[in-house]
Amino acid sequence: MKSLAPNASFGQGRVLRGSYAWEDHVLCVSVCLDGEEWTFRDTEICDPRYTEVDRERRVKERVRLGIRRVFERVYGLAPSPWGILSGVRPMKMVHSMLDRGFPPEELKSILLEVYALNSKKADLLLEIAALQRPYFHSDPNNPISIYVGIPFCPTRCSYCSFAAYPLETHGHLLKGFLQALHLEIAAVGSLLRELQLEVEAVYLGGGTPTTVQGEDLERLLSLMREHLFTAGTREFTVEAGRPETLSKETLNILKAGGTQRICINPQTMHAATLRSIGRRHGVDDVRTAFARARKVGIPLINMDIILGLPGEELSHVRRTLEEIGTLGPDNLTVHSLALKRASRLRKDLDQVQIAQEQGEAMVDLAREYALSWGMSPYYLYRQRHILGDLENIGYAVPQASSVYNIQMMEERQSILALGGGGVTKLVSSDLTLTRHANPKCPASYAARIREHLEDRLNLLRSHFASSN
Ligand code: SF4
Repeated sequence: MKSLAPNASFGQGRVLRGSYAWEDHVLCVSVCLDGEEWTFRDTEICDPRYTEVDRERRVKERVRLGIRRVFERVYGLAPSPWGILSGVRPMKMVHSMLDRGFPPEELKSILLEVYALNSKKADLLLEIAALQRPYFHSDPNNPISIYVGIPFCPTRCSYCSFAAYPLETHGHLLKGFLQALHLEIAAVGSLLRELQLEVEAVYLGGGTPTTVQGEDLERLLSLMREHLFTAGTREFTVEAGRPETLSKETLNILKAGGTQRICINPQTMHAATLRSIGRRHGVDDVRTAFARARKVGIPLINMDIILGLPGEELSHVRRTLEEIGTLGPDNLTVHSLALKRASRLRKDLDQVQIAQEQGEAMVDLAREYALSWGMSPYYLYRQRHILGDLENIGYAVPQASSVYNIQMMEERQSILALGGGGVTKLVSSDLTLTRHANPKCPASYAARIREHLEDRLNLLRSHFASSN
């Protein structure tokens, strides 16, 4: 109930009753609140392609739909574009159904009728699924991908909930962190060779990895190339993120270090908003960084924007998109503002939520622009506490989708995470997941690296041995 109506409070004498029964393999569900009753007979779940686990899940889904329907009638709960789907990765369910032989037309009606999605969202999921499926490999454990996390940033953005330690206050930890990271890179590199693993994509993220500069950055990239790249490595992304870190020298180092894709993230092209969310760069820094990156010849550039930033309306988003259009990135990632508990913005502001219709209009506008630049949506995820119950979407021009983003989001490939705050995800052949997180704090990471490294390598060995 809380996930459908986060402001719901309990204990006011009202009773919500839900019940279900299986009658000749048909699922019969009833939900009742204050005399308002919703009943349903689900015959679709009798389909032999469903398993016992699916049937158990369907009971919960139908009860959830029933609660949503009675809340809509009794409390006027607004319909959500995503119906009863509340998970972060709605694509995973779509892929699982496609794996089991449900054709897209049938799947669309399931998305509409079982999950109560609106037609636009159902079409979006199917469009992205068709684009992603050629990227999947039969073995989730070879090739794999690699993430390296640098948990430092120039300053901390007010909406941030990542591992991001401001250089001003934590810069003294950088040296020790990099030394520990070098050890981890070399050790994981030997393991890759020992197990003969191919690495498909490498992602240097954070934080802002380009807070590491000069010789430190050169050394880091060269170690990554030497130890983590294999013959099959087809993508190397650096999440440059903050444009003010992208001097000519840094971009030249990135290019010489084999970077194929960088992210230059304006979030908005409005100076006042940038100041209010704690980013130190201006709009001109974005333009300059972009022009420099093109000039040094980095092949692909992604730009991130955030919809629903405080004080921004549709006209601000339009202006941001117009500006980005004049630059011409290869990827555009459109985030709807999500305020997690760890973010300063959530602590400072009681109500940042803007109306759902306005959020949807922003999402539609961003799509319109992205399509007009020849891009297609290629990955999607949702977050808790997200603006208007919407989603984040990555767009790309043809042949420019990020392999790493697809593999990381769909969880069909093991991803080894090195560095601060990274989460290693090991995928079994039945696509179940085991996660292992590195410490976020650079000081703990550096202090514990030696004692943890051997245990971690053994754990990886046993996972890859059992997956053979
Ligand atoms: S640049 Fe990204 S990681 Fe760094 S503080 Fe801002 S949101 Fe957080």
